Amino acid sequence: MNKLKDSKIIILGGGGIGCGIAYSLCQAGTKDVLLLEKNNTLATETTSQGAGLVGQLRNDLNRVALAKWSVKIFTGLEKKAVKKPAWMQVGSLRIALTENKAHEFSILKSTAKEAGVNVNWITNKEANKKWPLFDFSSAKGVLWCDTDGYLSPPKLAESYANESMKLGAKFETGILVEEIMSSNGKVTGVRTNKGTICCDILINAAGAHAWHIAKMAGLNLPVFPVRHEYFISSAIENVNPNLPTMRIPEASLYLRASNNSLLLGGWEPDCVYTDPKNFKNGEKPPMIKDDLNVMKWFKDQLKVICPKNKIIQNSKVYKGWPTFVPDGRFIIGPTKKLQGFIMAGGCNAHGISGSAGIGKHVVDSIYSEEKSEYLKSLSPDRFLSDEKSNWEQEIEKSQMIYKNYYN
Ligand SMILES: Cc1cc2nc3c(=O)[nH]c(=O)nc-3n(C[C@H](O)[C@H](O)[C@H](O)COP(=O)(O)OP(=O)(O)OC[C@H]3O[C@@H](n4cnc5c(N)ncnc54)[C@H](O)[C@@H]3O)c2cc1C
Repeated sequence: MNKLKDSKIIILGGGGIGCGIAYSLCQAGTKDVLLLEKNNTLATETTSQGAGLVGQLRNDLNRVALAKWSVKIFTGLEKKAVKKPAWMQVGSLRIALTENKAHEFSILKSTAKEAGVNVNWITNKEANKKWPLFDFSSAKGVLWCDTDGYLSPPKLAESYANESMKLGAKFETGILVEEIMSSNGKVTGVRTNKGTICCDILINAAGAHAWHIAKMAGLNLPVFPVRHEYFISSAIENVNPNLPTMRIPEASLYLRASNNSLLLGGWEPDCVYTDPKNFKNGEKPPMIKDDLNVMKWFKDQLKVICPKNKIIQNSKVYKGWPTFVPDGRFIIGPTKKLQGFIMAGGCNAHGISGSAGIGKHVVDSIYSEEKSEYLKSLSPDRFLSDEKSNWEQEIEKSQMIYKNYYN
């Protein structure tokens, strides 16, 4: 097999986003697609560490629609794909601890309703029936969304990849993209560790390396890897995989069952970022050590609904470098600076739940004649005005997005 066959479209990066884009392109009828991944296996970087929560409640109608589209695709893959994403549509609980937060929830609820996502208030007693381990008596409001759930991020990537290959897409691993080739302001291909490959369109789905790849295209995009972690506990009595996912914004926490254990994560107040300029294309971002103080903080935060949380013992910590951007929104679509270069990054730690919706928007950005206002608003060009941007300020703003994730 000729590993370096030219292709109309090259997707750079074989994580959840790149694989989701391949699947969306194939579904839309484009088969001349080649995905390149530097590692020998797909989905071994950020995607391998994802908690897999899929939530549709967002404060923007278009963003809810994007998540809703993902849910539709996950449901279809779980039903029909040979390799399944392990999608568990168990529903979600969202807990408000103050009247103010409950008021914010009512806005989320009406936005979701407008997008056709069913969300209801339930009583604290009903919440307790859904998650008997926890005490919801201090909650000032509980929202229930029955179509939310969770899945396995690496299995989702595998499912996308397998279905795409059946439809004609090619996937090549062990290929590091080292340079973008262009002529007359237009992408013509990539130079890799195994030779050159021509293409008309190059999609940057390089996760924590999105900055490096954008830089090769001459764009200095503020895409910052920020450390994110959670742990899975030892087995706990009466915990089972059918329990709903949960978010407690005022405690900065999210959780779900992981078999008979609890997966508990959140948004640590002292967030740790890494400047992508400090590591090279092809190199891994800095290694992350398990931060047990942060795990303890998560457990302490959980006391609001679980005073006897001594039953929760860490078993394994998962961690990675999802990327954050200064306005907390995806970066999707082409740039005026280099024709044929398309961004699919800045996932702000919801790239898995967003993956199918991101794929759909990438397809629209290539083929749709009338681009939606929402899609235009996600353009990388919003960060590329001629005024000199202040890198340090962009880092600070991205950190604030992480810290205030649930606000
Ligand atoms: C602890 C944690 C919990 C999370 N929880 C959730 C959650 O509950 N729900 C959710 O939706 N999201 C969650 N996320 C975020 C989610 O995991 C990410 O948004 C998503 O995995 C990003 O996928 P990606 O494909 O962009 O990046 P990656 O999975 O990192 O994939 C990028 C790929 O590009 C490849 N690559 C890079 N440079 C090159 C090159 N030069 N040549 C070839 N290949 C290259 C890399 O090897 C890599 O495989 C979580 C993340 C973490 C770390």
